[in-house]
Amino acid sequence: MRTVAVVGTSLAGLRSAQELRAQGFGGRLVMIGAEPPYDRPPLSKDFLLGKVSTADLALADQPDLDALDAEWRIGIRAEGLTGDGVTLEDGTTIVADGYVIATGAVARTLGAARDLKGVHTLRTLDDAIALKRDLAAGPGSVVVIGAGFIGAEVASACRLLGHEVTVIEAMPVPLASVVGPEMGAVCGGLHAESDVRLMTGVAVAGFGGTDRVTSVKLADGREIPADLVVAGVGARPVTEWLTGSGLAVDDGVLVDSGCVTANPRVIAVGDVARYRCRLRGRRIRAEHWTAANEQAGVAVANLLAGSTVTHFARHGYFWSDQYGRRIQFAGVATEDVRIVEGDVASKRFVATYHRDDALTGVFAMDSPRPFTRLRRSL
Ligand SMILES: Cc1cc2nc3c(=O)[nH]c(=O)nc-3n(C[C@H](O)[C@H](O)[C@H](O)COP(=O)(O)OP(=O)(O)OC[C@H]3O[C@@H](n4cnc5c(N)ncnc54)[C@H](O)[C@@H]3O)c2cc1C
Repeated sequence: MRTVAVVGTSLAGLRSAQELRAQGFGGRLVMIGAEPPYDRPPLSKDFLLGKVSTADLALADQPDLDALDAEWRIGIRAEGLTGDGVTLEDGTTIVADGYVIATGAVARTLGAARDLKGVHTLRTLDDAIALKRDLAAGPGSVVVIGAGFIGAEVASACRLLGHEVTVIEAMPVPLASVVGPEMGAVCGGLHAESDVRLMTGVAVAGFGGTDRVTSVKLADGREIPADLVVAGVGARPVTEWLTGSGLAVDDGVLVDSGCVTANPRVIAVGDVARYRCRLRGRRIRAEHWTAANEQAGVAVANLLAGSTVTHFARHGYFWSDQYGRRIQFAGVATEDVRIVEGDVASKRFVATYHRDDALTGVFAMDSPRPFTRLRRSL
């Protein structure tokens, strides 16, 4: 293999480049990225709180970019992938023997609110800068739509900044699909503890305001005043540019358990990849930092080997920081949940999930050490 083109230069793309060099690839490496590399998790946490600045957003263990000996095409989008190479928006084409798709995801938007000022999503540094600027206008009523991880973290940051915050969640229990209803309810309880109003089981029907948002209208007829709205309603994979590539795309680039597409010269890693998860027996997009970080080594090994010789078989792990507490989860949530350390009332505890007495998952709140120990048993 003489040339590899990596599309997307954030976490998954950068790690893939590092792995290519670490695994002995000495050929031409072309890095194509719409944005320069930076780390996203702080955007909904310390960056909003003003504890870290743009200069502090380097990825953990970010390599010396010069040492990668790559050609950088930053600030340029890839527009297509064909047998002839990757076409870029500046009209050039990069012809390669191997391709890494690492274009991640973008925030889902609420169509009705697209043109209203004061309505935000949070995925990129530009999004975070715009949100931070709007929040700096002074204490006001913030409505966060979606009590998933991003929504909960934004709610937490807004509250700490002194805003009055309401969180609207369509499901009866926040995060239940990820950590199960029991632990989801514990996470949901963190909002009330910090005087944030959590409204569950209710859908958003529309928005008040003409130029700038003034309220959020609920399907049950209620209307919540809002100076600022943040929609944390999920992310969709960036795959439009692959139309016509012949690659299978369905809520992500479809890859096998080694992150390889049907074409062994093309791999997909990180949030854009919908990989066959051996532990769950179905295809998933992980959408978590650690998965994007770890998939790269597996995918690159397979790309260099020319076929799938190794598999990504790690238990999903993620963390979230809300209201000064660290939440950690790994594995799969089941109905059999047991508190094994601490107690829920103190908000410092570890819970384990079981199926037929076998450990399937671990959840922890402010208990990193026992979490790490138990996670090893998964
Ligand atoms: C606000 C926020 C907070 C988060 N917090 C946590 C957390 O606490 N814990 C956790 O586990 N995970 C967290 N995550 C998730 C984690 O950041 C992602 O899983 C990770 O960023 C995925 O990396 P990626 O490289 O696959 O995708 P991305 O980070 O989305 O990067 C994709 C890159 O591709 C570029 N790109 C897209 N299209 C093109 C194109 N056509 N041509 C060229 N370049 C293109 C994009 O500009 C981007 O730079 C958070 C995410 C966000 C947004």
